[in-house]
Amino acid sequence: MAWIESHEEPALGWNVRRLARKAGISHAEAVGRIHMLWHYSAKVHPLDRLDVLVATDWHGDEQVFVDALIICEYLIDCGGSYEVSGWWEMGGKRRHIDKERDRMTPALRAEVIHRDGSFCNECDAFVSDPHVDHVVALANGGKTEMDNLQILCREHNLRKGAR
Ligand SMILES: [Zn+2]
Repeated sequence: MAWIESHEEPALGWNVRRLARKAGISHAEAVGRIHMLWHYSAKVHPLDRLDVLVATDWHGDEQVFVDALIICEYLIDCGGSYEVSGWWEMGGKRRHIDKERDRMTPALRAEVIHRDGSFCNECDAFVSDPHVDHVVALANGGKTEMDNLQILCREHNLRKGAR
């Protein structure tokens, strides 16, 4: 199950109304097809022409719809393939999180505990079951690397998670 972010602009804003007008479809239909395009591009990217049609389940006039997507800046024509505008921002972040989570191995965890000595970085309390925390959260671009990892006690970990 892939998640995509849906923003008021451009998903629901004036641009999608423009797309609806150019493609001769309703506003609601345009919103739906754009979301389908984004979901598809989380798995396949860049897209070829057939991908675009499959992704959006479009059975009408190909040229009209693909042109409308390009004119309304949902697709970038890369000569033979198409990139979805804002793809990196929408899909790249998720991939980053998945990749960095996988890098958190037992060996790396042990290395952090060895360096920090099982003491919370916030309150210096000794912690018997230390939690290895990302100083800069993965969602904010943080990496699973020694200089971005720290030990937190349970309380501080929960506090940080609640922020
Ligand atoms: Zn603490």
